[in-house]
Amino acid sequence: VEHYLHNIKEKADLNAFLEVFEQEAYTQADIVDHKLANGTAGKLAGMVIGIKDVLAFEGHSLQASSQILNSFKSLYTATAVQRLIAEDAIIIGRQNCDEFAMGASNENSSFGPVLNADDHSRVPGGSSGGSAVAVQADMCLASIGSDTGGSVRQPASFCGIVGLKPTYSRISRYGLIAYASSFDQIGIMTKNVADAALLLEVMAGKDEYDSTVSQREVPAYSELLQTEKKYKIGYIRDCFESEGLDAEVKNAILGVKDMLKEAGHQVEAVEFPYLDYMVPTYYILTTAEASSNLGRYDGVKYGYRSDNATDLTSLYKKTRAEGFGQEVQRRIMLGTFVLSADYYDAYYTKAQKVRRLIKEKTDELLQAYDFLILPTAPTTAFKIGENTANPLAMYLADIFTVQASLAGVPAISIPVGRDTNGLSIGLQLMTRSFEEPALLAFSNYIL
Ligand code: GLN
Repeated sequence: VEHYLHNIKEKADLNAFLEVFEQEAYTQADIVDHKLANGTAGKLAGMVIGIKDVLAFEGHSLQASSQILNSFKSLYTATAVQRLIAEDAIIIGRQNCDEFAMGASNENSSFGPVLNADDHSRVPGGSSGGSAVAVQADMCLASIGSDTGGSVRQPASFCGIVGLKPTYSRISRYGLIAYASSFDQIGIMTKNVADAALLLEVMAGKDEYDSTVSQREVPAYSELLQTEKKYKIGYIRDCFESEGLDAEVKNAILGVKDMLKEAGHQVEAVEFPYLDYMVPTYYILTTAEASSNLGRYDGVKYGYRSDNATDLTSLYKKTRAEGFGQEVQRRIMLGTFVLSADYYDAYYTKAQKVRRLIKEKTDELLQAYDFLILPTAPTTAFKIGENTANPLAMYLADIFTVQASLAGVPAISIPVGRDTNGLSIGLQLMTRSFEEPALLAFSNYIL
């Protein structure tokens, strides 16, 4: 705890933490020390973990990096966080992120951007940017983030760490602030695969407070990390031919592909004809769901309330106009539009159909191949400010991560190299739903 608190203070300029639970962490450390001495300590004894500011922790502020939740405190603890604590993990603090997890660079936070520890002029990725940098810069051993369309995997790729998005429904979302509910997943950010496996094992599984969580048994992932098997791997050719893909990223990923082939795995190119539809489908559906989920922030029930209101309608309007940042407002408007009576079929219904096609094609490929490999992101970490004026360019940063989110399958980003600027490159692997044991074991083998 001392080590991490020291680093958090030393590296405060990175802006990774919104709040540090210093006293509590020391108290918890003492309790864990006693438990270790008398042999009653849990599986995560002493593991120092940071949580993204979208996860509820009773008695602590929870804001999704937004002003609309200013001064709001959680009344209960998210199931996933509760399970970490029950195994004697130490929660060290609350981490900066894009407002309501909407973004790919952490520049949409009302608390300012997070800086990439490898190059302070660059973004850490998003939306779990603070969580990624906290692990990258050794301010905690692991972070818990959320991944709706890549928010754990893409910042992991930009920061040279491991980022896991489990199968949709594998981890309870009770206590996770909702962005787009048919996509949202709690995800894990660590320095290695073994820690990710252990944390998944602790957090996954049924929960009486979340009716959408899977009832399946939770395998002992951390004991299943060795594999000697030769796998069948597909690499999505269309991704490697896509326009915005950086040449160094491409070469690094193709290098891993060749290495796997040489090691005796069966590696084949596969076609995925829906690449151009991925980002539009994702943004139509997620903005629609967001416009509905964010309806609850009305100045009455939570956090911020405008002082300038004169009646109920102006209370709603002014609170939301003053409390939400620009990107969140843009998405609420887009989502409200695609759900409006006149356009519902043209956009929302259509996007649902395309999502089904993407899911079916992905599942079909995953019947034929154990893993699909592709880059996590088309580029390495870009400069702060580089994409802020152009939301479409920013949305395209998600092109390779949204497939797993649209299909609900598990995916992981692992660091496989650096470009000539010293910036990290992430390889993404996807597999069939609930096959995290193989995904983790194979990632462990590659690393
Ligand atoms: N960048 C994507 C978005 O802005 C992903 C965000 C996420 O996974 N929370 O929606």
